[in-house]
Parts: sequence; C-alpha cells; structure tokens
Amino acid sequence: MRLHAFTCGWLDGPLGNFLAGEHGRLRVPVPCFLIEHPQGVVLFDSGLHPQTQHDPDGRLGVVAKVFGVEFAPGEEVTARLAAVGVDAGRVRYLVNSHLHFDHTGGNQQIPNARLVVQRREWEAGHDADQIARQFYYPHDYDHGHDTLLVDGEHDLFGDGRIVCLPTHGHTPGHQSLRLRLDSGEVILTGDACYLRRTLEQLHLPSVVDDPEAMRTALLRLRALRDAGARLIFGHDPEDWASVPALMT
Ligand SMILES: [Zn+2]
Repeated sequence: MRLHAFTCGWLDGPLGNFLAGEHGRLRVPVPCFLIEHPQGVVLFDSGLHPQTQHDPDGRLGVVAKVFGVEFAPGEEVTARLAAVGVDAGRVRYLVNSHLHFDHTGGNQQIPNARLVVQRREWEAGHDADQIARQFYYPHDYDHGHDTLLVDGEHDLFGDGRIVCLPTHGHTPGHQSLRLRLDSGEVILTGDACYLRRTLEQLHLPSVVDDPEAMRTALLRLRALRDAGARLIFGHDPEDWASVPALMT
C-alpha cells in the first residue's frame, strides 16, 4: 500500500481559530491524501474547489473574510492526482473527514468514487440549522455521488489496512483514517486535531461543535500515538514539513 500526501492550497487565518484565545495569525496547509490499496484507489479529503483559485469571495462568502487563500492552478486535487499517475475517474472511494469547504471542495472533480462519510455528518450536512451553524456549503458535497454512510468504525476493504475512525467533536460526525502501512501505522487525524499543540495541550479551537466529544477523540488519538502510530495532523504547518510525499 502506498500513501501519497499533498496540499490542495494553503489558508491563512486567525491563530485563535486553531487555538482558542491565542492571538496572531497562522498559515496552514490544506492536506489531501491518496492511498493506493491493491483493491482500489482511495482519496482522503479533496481540498479546495478550483473556483477558489480565482474567485475566493464568490466561492466561500463570509469564510473568505476570515481566511486568506493561496491556491494556484496546478494545486487542485485532479492535478495532484495526475502528477502521481492517477486519473481522478479511477478513485474508488472518496473518504471525507467531514464536510467543511477545505475538505470537500474537490469532491465534484472525483466523479466516479463512492463517497464514504459518517452518517451523522451527512445528516448534519443536510439539515438547515446545522448547515448554518457548522458553516457547511452543500455545493461542495451535493453532487450525486453514490454514498456509503457509516456509523462509527468502518474497515474499507475488510483487511484492517484502511479503517475509518469516528472522531466526532469538531463537527457532529467527523472521522479520521487509520492506515496500516508496511512501515507502520499512520493516522490521518483530519480536523479532529488541527495541530501538534492541540494534541499535546488538549488546546481546543475557538469553534467546536462538541468540546467534550473532541477531548475524548483527542485522548483516543493520543493513545494510538503512544501505541506507536504516526499522527499526521489536520492543519499543522510545522509538522507538515516533515511529512513525506510518499510513504509505504
Ligand atoms: Zn479543515
């Protein structure tokens, strides 16, 4: 199994959004991950929508007032996949950690995949109150994909190598992805853990759907790390510099 890590843009926003109460700003990567499994190609999150490259205000509305966007042509998910020899039409499963714009923006460009989302996230993403409260944009994820809604842990190919891990809290149905590579276990935390500091200090962001659930998820991620897993965080610029483009 091969794990490719790449960015689909960078965001620049208030540090307090990532670590409640902190001042200043932070420039963060928008990571996506491609996993080549013997039974098919899996994408974990899809980055920003290509429209964001030339029209961030039109695409993101109020969110563009909070975050600056750096996203150049050639950094969109389809180009990133092509660069490692994978046609976007060949992706079998598109696993979304959650439905925020920087994780689902490229979904439209992955036409043939089966979408894998936690049921409670999908339901929140189709509830008018939750859409407003969680800053979801249905135009990121409502593209008629065949959808596999899962409840809790889900082993994608039944061999224990790619497993969805429920890490609710950031949003109602957030999930991380646990990978068993030949070199060891890797956890793609997604936004269950923005930064290494989030994990070390249990320092939550300013906007959290369910703080108690998020703390529980962080403790679970810590336990996995302590058992030897490598964690790749959701938006940590320092940690990102040490993430290899390819892991096997
Ligand atoms: Zn995010």
